Amino acid sequence: MKKKVVVLTGAGISAESGISTFRDSDGLWEQYRVEDVATYDAYLRNPELVLNFYNERRRQLFQVKPNEGHRQLVRLEEKYDVRIITQNIDNLHEQAGSTHVLHLHGLLTQARSDRDDNLIVDIGDRDIHIGDKAPDGAQLRPHIVWFGEAVPNIEPAAELCEKADYFIVVGTSMNVYPAAGLIHYVPRSTPCYLVDPKAVPISRPITIFQEKAGTGVKKVVDELLNQPSE
Ligand code: NAD
Repeated sequence: MKKKVVVLTGAGISAESGISTFRDSDGLWEQYRVEDVATYDAYLRNPELVLNFYNERRRQLFQVKPNEGHRQLVRLEEKYDVRIITQNIDNLHEQAGSTHVLHLHGLLTQARSDRDDNLIVDIGDRDIHIGDKAPDGAQLRPHIVWFGEAVPNIEPAAELCEKADYFIVVGTSMNVYPAAGLIHYVPRSTPCYLVDPKAVPISRPITIFQEKAGTGVKKVVDELLNQPSE
């Protein structure tokens, strides 16, 4: 059986594709306040502002492409059972060709019923407007996990982490919970790697490549492809 590589990615892996990160000084959230666009209360208060914010993110997604960081993770599938857990709401891992991607915080190309969280529809590049209805007649909302909402995929993600033979973290400040807590499910004996140009606080032994995903992910992938994989 192939060994399992579990990869936790954040906004940083998509930065070189041209999608702003969250907390860097030129990040997205310098221009918006989280509580105005990424909470359910904000949506109730001003649905048009929130829908437009995500419509803009979706339009931007259709103007960018996966970068070398995304592509290198696909290369890893030659020898390993690779499972990507991403905090990103873009689909650049899938566009690059990764076959197992678990989205913790939802996906821009999907929408769901305001009344039924399990009624999810593919919308591709289409905007969501007030009055757009889900099949149950309720208003469509972005299929995004907003701050303060439950993260339904956290359990399957934790199960993946428990089975990791190798664990790689790319481009996340490890500030957003519960995603940041996933590393605690990774067995102590599992070799861990981190790729991020900034120093990220991680309280366990980890091999650090303090550089951008475009160059750093290749170094980790080269190292793992040189290991016995079964
Ligand atoms: P974050 O902004 O908190 O952290 C980004 C990290 O990426 C930082 O540590 C930064 O040093 C690093 N980084 C910057 N450029 C990089 C590069 N070229 N290569 C590698 N690393 C780089 O992001 P987060 O930890 O993912 O948390 C942000 C939250 O915001 C998530 O919940 C996510 O859903 C959301 N978000 C998603 C996207 C997206 O889908 N692309 C973009 C912005 C925010």
